[in-house]
Amino acid sequence: MIVMKFDGGSIASHDRLRAVAKLVRQHKARKPVVVTSALPKVTDLLLDAAHLAAARQNEYDDRLRELGTLHEEVVEELLPDGPPRRRLLAYVKELVEELRTFCTAVYALEELTPRTLDAVAAIGERLSSEIVAEALVQEGLRAEVVDARTVVITDEGFGSASPRLADMAPRVRLKLKPMLDTGLVPVLGGYVGATRSGVTTTLGRGGADGTAAVIGALLEAQEIQIWTEVDGLMNVDPKVVADARAIPNVSPEEAAELAYFGAKVLHPAMIRPAVEKGVPIRVLNTLQPSAPGTLVSADEQLGPSGPCAVAYRKGITVVLISQPRMLMASGFLRQVFEVFERYGTAVDLIATSEVSISVTLDDVEHLGAIKGDLALLGEVRILRETAIVSLVGRGFFRYQGLARRIFEALSGVNVVMISFAASDVNISVVVEEADAERAVHSLHREFFSDFADEKGATGTSSALT
Ligand code: ASP
Ligand code: MG
Repeated sequence: MIVMKFDGGSIASHDRLRAVAKLVRQHKARKPVVVTSALPKVTDLLLDAAHLAAARQNEYDDRLRELGTLHEEVVEELLPDGPPRRRLLAYVKELVEELRTFCTAVYALEELTPRTLDAVAAIGERLSSEIVAEALVQEGLRAEVVDARTVVITDEGFGSASPRLADMAPRVRLKLKPMLDTGLVPVLGGYVGATRSGVTTTLGRGGADGTAAVIGALLEAQEIQIWTEVDGLMNVDPKVVADARAIPNVSPEEAAELAYFGAKVLHPAMIRPAVEKGVPIRVLNTLQPSAPGTLVSADEQLGPSGPCAVAYRKGITVVLISQPRMLMASGFLRQVFEVFERYGTAVDLIATSEVSISVTLDDVEHLGAIKGDLALLGEVRILRETAIVSLVGRGFFRYQGLARRIFEALSGVNVVMISFAASDVNISVVVEEADAERAVHSLHREFFSDFADEKGATGTSSALT
């Protein structure tokens, strides 16, 4: 069997829904379980409504109305007048009323708990799953909604709950398996779950991928398909380099690196259950279904090693701490990192010399306090508006000439920090923000353009597999 997960954009309108239904029909023989996100913008609207109500702002009512209209329009465009349309319109109304009850309570109590927020947020996928299932039925499929809360059992971490696979396994076996065996297509709202005692939870933003991953892992799917509106994970930002291409194969580690750089397609923590079970994940484009997409799979199935993408991230701050007394001393790094820990601030890249240490931060909320505390340990300098530019890939330790090619490519750019760490999947440099695009272009030209292919062919690079 396979899992087919569709994101909001893929189901945004009646024609997108019909296209999705056709795709599911094409894969019917592979026994698909369908997992769907909410319609676009819906989760934001829901959260917004709840927060407005908690702040005693009556505008929450506008959000409710917007939510109702948005779903009604899709239903009315998808279905001719008749019982299915009337049933779905009544369902939309019912859930908007349920939401109104929640918001009224939040408004009255001026209190919004994570638990309540999850009950509110879950409404998006509860609605979209019914709409998607009906689109499949219109396409001649025997599709049935399965309330995710009866299958996706999670802990009580409201707002970002973790699925409990042991609790889920029997439910998946008893509920989904028989449906697949009799040719039914189960449709689940992603992102949504429930605690063992039945309280609604969500898996966190982007959590529909997480639902696909756990279902796929528990059913030992042949493949989990993540359908979105891009050709896959791209080897460079298409906004920077016109010649961007989808990467055919990546390891989960490479996918995780790319996620940090904003490849929003897959959240590494969300797909972990599937990765651990060895279930391959394929990112596909609903707008271009015949494109091969990107296959995320364990190392054995991957092709030769080498760079797969150039990624970058702006808005980075570099903190440099130097302390001549650090020479030969121990415990200095611990003291430095305790400062970041004290302020709950994540450090991304690190580079050290005998007497200095550079780190990069995304989150500068506590920078002032951090700087103050670090000043007690050594001389502190801050560089703002920098960017991390990374060459991502695998097997870099064994890739001869890689560093030379990177630094030759970057010879016209001022590099303020370099990092190449144990995971062997990424070499990163930090440059001034204004130089980021130029650095990305240079690296892309060196490793991924046709010119790079020619170089490879003449044997100047020697990727080992
Ligand atoms: N609808 C949820 C969100 O917007 C979950 C998802 O789409 O993955 O975050
Ligand atoms: Mg997504």
